[in-house]
Parts: sequence; C-alpha cells; structure tokens
Amino acid sequence: HPFVVGITGGIGSGKSTAAKFFEELGIPVYNSDTRAKLIQNENSEVKAKIIAAFGEEAYDENGLNKAYLSKQVFQDNEKLKVLNSIVHPAVFKDFEAWKIAQQTPIVMKEAAILIESGSYKDCDLVISVMVDKEKRIARTMERDGLTREDILARINHQITDEERIAKSDVIIDNNSDLAHLKNEVEQALMNIKKKMASH
Ligand code: ATP
Repeated sequence: HPFVVGITGGIGSGKSTAAKFFEELGIPVYNSDTRAKLIQNENSEVKAKIIAAFGEEAYDENGLNKAYLSKQVFQDNEKLKVLNSIVHPAVFKDFEAWKIAQQTPIVMKEAAILIESGSYKDCDLVISVMVDKEKRIARTMERDGLTREDILARINHQITDEERIAKSDVIIDNNSDLAHLKNEVEQALMNIKKKMASH
C-alpha cells in the first residue's frame, strides 16, 4: 500500500496550487472535494440517502442542488453531521479503491476539511498550507469575487490555524510568491521521503 499524504489548508490557502506542484513531481493527487461532488451526483445509494434526509429539492435537473444543501447545513450542525455521515464513508471507500489502483509509493489526498472530517487519521502524514489571514482574504476575493464579509464568515466556520497546526506533521508556508511555494513543496517532499524511511 502506498504512503498516504493528506494535504489541507483554510479557504484560499493555496492547497490546490500546492497539490498541483506535488502532481508535477509525480505524486498522484486525489481531490476529495471533486470526488465528493461526483459521488453525490452519481452514486445512487448516496443520492437516495440525501433525498431521504433533505428532500427532493436536494437535486434539480442539473444534479445536486449545492446552493440548497449548503443553506441547509451551513447554520445547522446536526444537519451537517447527517450529510457528512452519508458522504464521508462513500468518499472513504472511493479513496481506498483509488489508492490501491495507483502504482506509486506515495499518494496524496487533498481535502478542505481533512481535519474536520477526521480523515486525517487515515493519512500517514498530514500537510497544512498556511497563509496569513489578510493574504487569504485578498487572494480569495480575487479568485471568487466574494466580499470580505463572505470570506470571513467561511474562515470563522473553519478550524483555527492553531488547531490545524496541532494536527499537522509538515507546514507549507504560502505567504510569498508561487516560486517560493514550489520550493516549499520540494522541501516538503524531501521531508516526506525522510519520514517514510523511518515509518
Ligand atoms: P479553497 O479551499 O478556497 O478552494 P485553496 O486552498 O485550494 O482554496 P488555491 O485555489 O490553490 O487555494 O489558491 C487560492 C487563490 O490564490 C488562487 O487564485 C491561487 O491562484 C492564488 N494563489 C495561491 N498561491 C499563491 C501565491 N503564492 N501567490 C499568489 N497567488 C496565489
């Protein structure tokens, strides 16, 4: 079985950008958010459970009605737990199958909520990408066209930097430019290989 590296970070931290650099270095990356969306749209067992819990409005002609579901769970922790209890085990199973199909010694699992979902526990090593709050806000505003208030609401909904650091084995700093991030990724990969040798 390959060595599983989890990568996470808060909104706009640059985890997707960092994961792309790892991919360029030959590490296959599983994008949990993309796969979770696919599973919610295509896995009939998951769809049936979501409809049973959230009603027919959970899907429309375009598939999963993300706006409706997000609204349902954003302010209601119990509903969020219900949704997670449907989606997380399906993503876990999907990841296990994907992992075994990879023919590399290291694989990477990218997830915005790697720590919150508990799936960091299934990783051999956890990386967090960290950026100062103001920089994350600026980058996310530029990327998504959201307001500062929207982004702050999301940041306040996520775990704190301190909680993230406490659960991480390796920290990648993304406060500088992309060349710096790439260098951080190269350093992290050397670090991972050292830790693998002593695993
Ligand atoms: P989310 O969880 O919100 O999807 P993410 O952690 O995957 O975010 P990215 O999408 O990789 O973050 O990065 C956020 C934005 O910041 C993107 O537009 C990306 O191009 C930009 N970005 C990432 N790293 C840097 C950097 N070092 N310098 C400038 N811009 C950057």
